[in-house]
Amino acid sequence: MSEQVMVEELFGKNVFTLEKMRQHLPKSVYKEVVQVMENGGELSLASADAVANAMKNWAMDNGATHYTHWFQPLTGITAEKHDAFITSARGDGHMMTSFSGKDLIKGEPDASSFPSGGLRATFEARGYTAWDITSPAFLKESGAGVTLCIPTAFCSYNGEALDKKTPLLRSMEAVNKQALRIVHLFGNTEAKKVNVSVGPEQEYFLVDWKKSLKRPDLIFTGRTLFGAQPPKGQEMEDHYFGVIRERVGEFMKDLNTELWKLGVPGKTQHNEVAPGQHELAPIYETANIAVDHNQIIMETMKRVAEHHNMRCLLHEKPFAGVNGSGKHDNWSLCTDNGVNLLDPGDTPNENVQFLFVLACIVKAVDTHADLLRQSAADVGNDHRLGADEAPPAIISVFLGEQLEDVVQQLIETGEARRSKRGGKLKTGVSTLPEFEKDATDRNRTSPFAFTGNKFEFRMVGSSDSMASSNTALNTIVAEAFCEAADRLEKAEDFDMEVHDIIKEYLTKHQRVIFGGDGYSDEWKAEAERRGLPNIPSTIEAAEVLTTKKAIDLYKKFGVFTQTELEARKEIIFETYSKTINIEALTMIDMASKQIIPAVMKYAGGLAMNMNAIKAAGADCAVEKEELDEISKELKAMKKALDQLKKAEDKAMTIEDARKRAYFCKDKVVPVMADLRTPADRLEMLVDKNDWPFPTYADLLFEG
Ligand code: ADP
Ligand code: MG
Repeated sequence: MSEQVMVEELFGKNVFTLEKMRQHLPKSVYKEVVQVMENGGELSLASADAVANAMKNWAMDNGATHYTHWFQPLTGITAEKHDAFITSARGDGHMMTSFSGKDLIKGEPDASSFPSGGLRATFEARGYTAWDITSPAFLKESGAGVTLCIPTAFCSYNGEALDKKTPLLRSMEAVNKQALRIVHLFGNTEAKKVNVSVGPEQEYFLVDWKKSLKRPDLIFTGRTLFGAQPPKGQEMEDHYFGVIRERVGEFMKDLNTELWKLGVPGKTQHNEVAPGQHELAPIYETANIAVDHNQIIMETMKRVAEHHNMRCLLHEKPFAGVNGSGKHDNWSLCTDNGVNLLDPGDTPNENVQFLFVLACIVKAVDTHADLLRQSAADVGNDHRLGADEAPPAIISVFLGEQLEDVVQQLIETGEARRSKRGGKLKTGVSTLPEFEKDATDRNRTSPFAFTGNKFEFRMVGSSDSMASSNTALNTIVAEAFCEAADRLEKAEDFDMEVHDIIKEYLTKHQRVIFGGDGYSDEWKAEAERRGLPNIPSTIEAAEVLTTKKAIDLYKKFGVFTQTELEARKEIIFETYSKTINIEALTMIDMASKQIIPAVMKYAGGLAMNMNAIKAAGADCAVEKEELDEISKELKAMKKALDQLKKAEDKAMTIEDARKRAYFCKDKVVPVMADLRTPADRLEMLVDKNDWPFPTYADLLFEG
């Protein structure tokens, strides 16, 4: 049995927590830090110096040699440039260390090598990183030693966001401001802040490291580009929640230990639907911290897997024909005096506020379904959404039977006098019933489901940053709150206006509410009848970023400028083409250098056998049949290979990022599929010992 883990001692060991600040900082500085954390603003330089010094001493006492501004550029992953604490070394072998308030607060990495979508062309190349005081600094232990990581935002010289964190923080402020108006109007005047809570469930695959090294597709693209179906897939439903294998269990134990040290509250772990697939869910936290922690989770998963001779695949679709991986974005709003706005609550009054908030969210999701869809789009996720294993590309809201019934009553009569399941009906303030917290059923096929006291946005891809989805969600809800608050503030009869708004919003936007099977074809047809958008791919989704509706929304709430939106769109097009390009080139490489030569060799052997059999005067009909089939597939492969090369060459010549992206989607991707089909058939025809790389069965069942 393995070593014991002492959770209480471990948790947060590598984090410069508020408690550590309290211990290490003069009282006045500590107070200033708390003040800035809660209310925004800037630390004085003297205080920043004091914090930096305390941070450095703590970090170096724990073995840190370097510090880094840790940020999240538009690549969707994290970036870091390490600087040693050493500042000057005297000839006599003596050295000094330093880390000033300025070093802590601001960095100036060269932005020119990060995607900027044109922001760089108009402004200067330099980028600035700025400390996000609300997300704690931490010590990363890696092959590079111990590094003090300071979570930062990354902006251009003119303050344009070059990262994922800045807009997220802006959106959190926007929704805070508007939600506060609502809770104050409903009488909770004590509340000073409304926080966004986020709990991301992270799915991933583990495969054997050595085997993965034999597959260029896994190395270069994170997914398999070839591979026939194994005899057994996930049809027995025996993997989900199944007993965790020893090797995987050991990985999970180390993963938890590493995460807990970093203050990441890893909580739930289990096997997922597909063989080789697992999930980790931490306890929810404030949105920006949850997003940072999700990045840490993904990075730590990869690192720990390597130590266990495994490769962690975070791609949305590593294996065709087997469920892919997503990330469920559990989202709610909570006041600083403990009221979750998505909790139906115990009193009718809370019930009314809950229904009001719900109506606003339904309105927001219907109005900006396109933006929500876009926020979860990435190249990998295109393989999942709408493929009967993840929500469809159509956004709808699942409320559960009880709530949907209440909504229907409200729409029909303006009142809801009954609650299904005989829930206690409170008289008093209004005509609305009290809800039971767990009165919602589960619906795994819905992209946006109410789950008791939060919404679960299930579309996000497993490798994606959580920042985009939460930025979109916060902003669209801020807008709905803002419009409703404008009306309420002017209303003569508050109760009546609340009632009217709930009825109006739910009536107008009920088309987005759907409780049935989101995977079914009937729903696709029904959604079309209802006029709900069905945006098929990342490329089409990118277009919605610059509609007038989107520009106005994001501008009004100070989340994105038009320039920032245009830049992001450009980057999506560029990233799309680059990803497809790498995948196509990898396929060309594997087909030309591995599969075709292996098949030719095998076919050559078969032909020689045939000759020998013939010479011996025996019947070689079976061999002949086999050889013919192989030749047929080989021919198809060669043809598709030539076409793919041509399409790739053509794609390279297209200058315009948008046009190139569409070309890749429409002309390159289909030919990639044409190349894969005969190759996968050949895998079933050729001797396993002659196949040039590990198969699905090798990767998924013998990992
Ligand atoms: P399931 O798989 O049943 O949906 P999990 O326990 O795997 O549930 O994950 C649920 C996630 O939702 C966890 O990260 C949990 O902390 C988070 N969560 C719970 N309550 C809230 C809330 N009020 N706001 C945001 N996230 C929440
Ligand atoms: Mg789960």
